[in-house]
Amino acid sequence: MIRIALIGCTGSIGRQTADVVRRYPERFCFSALACGHGGAAFEALCAEFSPAVALCSEGGFVPPAGTRTLKEGEEARLFEGCDVAFIAAGGFAGLKYTLLAAEAGKKIALANKESLVCGGELVMRAVREKGLDLVPVDSEHSALFQCLAFRRDAPFSKLVLTASGGPFYHLSREELARVTAADALRHPTWNMGAKITVDSATLLNKGYEVIEAKWLYDADFSQIEAVVHPESIVHSLVCFEDGAALAQLGYPDMRVPIQLALTYPERLPCEKPLDLPALGKLTFLPFPEERFPCFSLAIAAGRAGGTLPTVLNAAAEEAVHAFLGGRITFPMIAETIECALGALPRENAESYPQLCEADGKARSCAAQYLLSHGK
Ligand code: MG
Repeated sequence: MIRIALIGCTGSIGRQTADVVRRYPERFCFSALACGHGGAAFEALCAEFSPAVALCSEGGFVPPAGTRTLKEGEEARLFEGCDVAFIAAGGFAGLKYTLLAAEAGKKIALANKESLVCGGELVMRAVREKGLDLVPVDSEHSALFQCLAFRRDAPFSKLVLTASGGPFYHLSREELARVTAADALRHPTWNMGAKITVDSATLLNKGYEVIEAKWLYDADFSQIEAVVHPESIVHSLVCFEDGAALAQLGYPDMRVPIQLALTYPERLPCEKPLDLPALGKLTFLPFPEERFPCFSLAIAAGRAGGTLPTVLNAAAEEAVHAFLGGRITFPMIAETIECALGALPRENAESYPQLCEADGKARSCAAQYLLSHGK
């Protein structure tokens, strides 16, 4: 029985992780459940899975008998009785939990991109020092992990991340200026939370994934490429010195990388085997960097390192929130990020409090920009 501490249990990845546990109750259970904003969904999950401990950051929920409620400041206790820390919380908020799980010496299944985008240096240092098992859940990085035979230190010449291209791949700059939040939320292939769906539309998400790949596989930025693949069947590829390339294929269903992260190298059955004749053909298109500045901003911040990826992310979180609320246009997401990156200097990222400070400053900077430029 694998005991899972699931952080971010009411989000899209959290709910699909609960699906996997439901499907294999003899293999998995939850030792801890945590979320930011819980409500009825959190109470229902706690009632169904009876975790030993539960934490809802906004508070105000009634745990079932036998479940102990943790308070703010007791987050480290979430990982006491688990075999795997499954970090599915969204945004910068997830980094704290990844660092706590690392400190507790646990195996980490990582679905929170920001942990590596913002805290890559800190997380990888802890992973190295403690010899921890860090397993990617993001579909692209799970694909790379599989193509590298479940190793993060295997040799390769290039990593190729596939991208659906999002809903706006074919739009011109003029058309992009007029898209709405509702348009951005219509993702062609993946069903995800609102923030990441908008990040897929701006292609910021792919920039994040390049940074994630850099940390996970100790790659140089020059070794990582992105290509558009609208069908989202090939989840990523690894190219080798001799010209050979290995790809991982499957339908876009996050439950596959979720369950693999928990059981690898063992694989559990999933309901939908690939039907190649039904798919007919797969297409690959150039990555449209010039029309989607968020991607290049992410790569530049990733290359610069230090606190700048945290600045990028904080500004993006604020801007996407404003875009979802109808307060700014789509191109203003990139403009807000650019403004914050221009206003705040790069500092070394040696500690979590340092990153929190950079995060706070970037949020105020972005908020100011949004206030003066928004509708
Ligand atoms: Mg992904």
